[in-house]
Amino acid sequence: MAFLSGASRETGLVPLAAEDDMIRAGNDATRNADRHNSAAGARDKTASGMAATPKLHRSVDPGLTSGPAPRDLGLPRTTGKGGADMAQEMRAAVLRKLRTPLRIEKLARPEPGPGQILIRVAACGVCHSDLHAVDGDWTPGPTLPLIPGHEVTGHVVALGRGVSGVKLGEAVGVPWMFSACGACEYCLSGQETICRNGRSTGYSVPGGYAEFMVAPAAFVGRLPKNADLFALAPILCAGVTTYRGLKRSQVKPGQWVTVIGVGGLGHIAIQYAAAMGMRIAAVDVDDGKLRLARRLGAHVVANAAKGDPAPAIRKATGGTHGAIVTTAAPRAFEQAVGLLRRGGTCVYIGVPGGKKDEVRNSIAALVGAELTLRGSNVGTRADLAEAIAFAGNGLVSAKIERQPLSHANRVLERMRKGQILGRVVLDLR
Ligand SMILES: [Zn+2]
Ligand SMILES: [Zn+2]
Repeated sequence: MAFLSGASRETGLVPLAAEDDMIRAGNDATRNADRHNSAAGARDKTASGMAATPKLHRSVDPGLTSGPAPRDLGLPRTTGKGGADMAQEMRAAVLRKLRTPLRIEKLARPEPGPGQILIRVAACGVCHSDLHAVDGDWTPGPTLPLIPGHEVTGHVVALGRGVSGVKLGEAVGVPWMFSACGACEYCLSGQETICRNGRSTGYSVPGGYAEFMVAPAAFVGRLPKNADLFALAPILCAGVTTYRGLKRSQVKPGQWVTVIGVGGLGHIAIQYAAAMGMRIAAVDVDDGKLRLARRLGAHVVANAAKGDPAPAIRKATGGTHGAIVTTAAPRAFEQAVGLLRRGGTCVYIGVPGGKKDEVRNSIAALVGAELTLRGSNVGTRADLAEAIAFAGNGLVSAKIERQPLSHANRVLERMRKGQILGRVVLDLR
């Protein structure tokens, strides 16, 4: 799930062609691109690393770019092999208007600016936040046109000026937190997730529903060598978000935590909780998802479609020390408080948005039982490194289903209906 406070409107993302005829021509080119997959085989190749503001260029004709030629600013060229062979174009799923389907378009490949890297995307998980972006559920809304996607994995294929510490060919991941300012009181106190000047991948800047993307080298996750980039993709949001949420619940090993919602986030949260030594209760409205929860380590499950789950969970556990709410159903946020043990902590992670953005809680219960209610917002870079380490060590593994980029709308529709078990990961190779 995703936060909003850091969603900046400042992106430098500019559509270069607005005329209808160019749009139609672009769609024709897209259909050709679907068949030819012109970027196939581009991974691990390099290109010149000219610094330029990343733009969403529309390509009208395969091989031609509708925008101005990239400026050569006289910066050092990226070193590496095969630069001339790397595709100059890419396929991407683009949102041009809120509440309309994504369109597969052929766009100019972005160039990494100073401090940025160019990533040949291998996989991108589909998060519920992508649906909120497409539907315009949050304020501020996403910057249009938008390439969604913030569970991105791939390989570094070019380096912008001044990049150090990240190497060509390295496997990296791009999370929701595209960047933070690094200088404000929050960044300086280890709370970069709430930086007011942060940018959000696949929301305020182009994301990973594309064959290529650029990202600041300082903010990408470093993935283990030979990592399974499909299995790891969901760790970049669902993983790090639930991991940080569990940390913020302050539940200790041996204590109880309730995971509410066993969807893309929840099924990973259960695994982190198990790996962290917690005893687990799980709540969902779908028996299939509750069976998955049991297989992943939940000791107690309750179906909230059959009534308030709090009494059953309190009876089985004495009330749980913590709870994390990963769903976006408002009722769940209220029920979560009711299943806590005295002194317990409830962590809100899901973001329903719009008119659903309210909960009712008993003030007397909060005060009388000294309950803590807190939000948790994706994760810092340190959280991300830790979350990746759990996955890299085999302790956490997302249940994934692969789908091609061309099925992105279908996947979002299934997500809207709650029909996805685990996580769908788009295949961009
Ligand atoms: Zn997400
Ligand atoms: Zn900051």
